[in-house]
Amino acid sequence: MEIKITKTSAPKEKPDSSVLGFGKYFTDHMFMMDYSKDKGWHDARIIPFGNISLHPASTVLHYGSEIFEGLKAYRRADGKVQLFRPLENIRRMNNSAERLCLPQIDEKDGMQILETFVSLEQDWTPSAEGTSLYIRPFMYGNDESLGVHAVHNAAFVIIASPVGSYYKEGINPVKIMIEDEDVRAVRGGTGYAKCGGNYAASNRAGERAEQKGYSQVLWLDGVERRYIEEVGAMNVMFKIGSEIVTPKLTGSILPGITRKSCIEVLKAEGYTVNERLLSVDELGAALESGTLEEAWGCGTAAVVSPIGELCYKDVKYTINGGKIGKVTQHLYDTLTRIQWGKIEDTYGWTYPIK
Ligand SMILES: *Cc1c(COP(=O)(O)O)cnc(C)c1O
Repeated sequence: MEIKITKTSAPKEKPDSSVLGFGKYFTDHMFMMDYSKDKGWHDARIIPFGNISLHPASTVLHYGSEIFEGLKAYRRADGKVQLFRPLENIRRMNNSAERLCLPQIDEKDGMQILETFVSLEQDWTPSAEGTSLYIRPFMYGNDESLGVHAVHNAAFVIIASPVGSYYKEGINPVKIMIEDEDVRAVRGGTGYAKCGGNYAASNRAGERAEQKGYSQVLWLDGVERRYIEEVGAMNVMFKIGSEIVTPKLTGSILPGITRKSCIEVLKAEGYTVNERLLSVDELGAALESGTLEEAWGCGTAAVVSPIGELCYKDVKYTINGGKIGKVTQHLYDTLTRIQWGKIEDTYGWTYPIK
């Protein structure tokens, strides 16, 4: 496919890596392309970063037709920049698109777009320990009419943001509250799709947890409020005795690429990993008896995030003395070393940018 490139005439100064945070600074350019039912995807272009103009009746503003992805470009020790399993993001975006009746993007075109865009912006990938260039592809329905129907016009955009290290003062275990009132998703709904609407519906529980001093909530299934699903923007794993358990993908859980990578690493190293239903009662019993040895969240932003405390119905449980566990640390070290090119990638997960 042809991608037209218009470079900015006013390149910005790159922020110092000490001030980065998450998603506050943006690179000089963005990718954009439009879709219409009769023309398909067209007008693929990289243009100077700037505001997007929308018709006030645009579908996304009224009916929430929006999906997104998140992946990172990592600066290796030899100076080159690489992505981590980017094709997985494109495939997941197409699954999300299918669920929301948004148009899909050919995988080859998707890879070409990512590669062209990241290659142009790669100088924005910071090099300080733990920093990266966060890449945010997103798609929205853009029909200029208030009628409710499948989308006939859409736009696909990619922006990128240099981000700081998730762990500035070493890995800090997080405190998580099990949410038993609001639910994030139900089977048959949009839980497995990475769509903005899932986040809008999560905010209330997140706010309540924050007020009580917890950083995120752990969701239970939407029907029985009994089975563990995932944490905010991360999947979740537990080490119970010698078994590593993660909730199976029943349709209401987001299929994380970090989750998949953790499972593959653990299985390759001989751990017993089961994707199965895990009830809050079973988890509670394991907490009470002390067989719950480790718990962690996993997602692109933090890679692996140890859970030091769980709160359920106002009862607080400390996990592994509030410290990071052995398996959690091992997963963190393995994945980050592959991502930043510090060890050989025997899995074939990394994707160097030219
Ligand atoms: C993106 C996301 C994850 C993590 O997925 P990764 O591909 O590992 O980054 C988990 N849960 C939700 C709800 C998400 O949006």
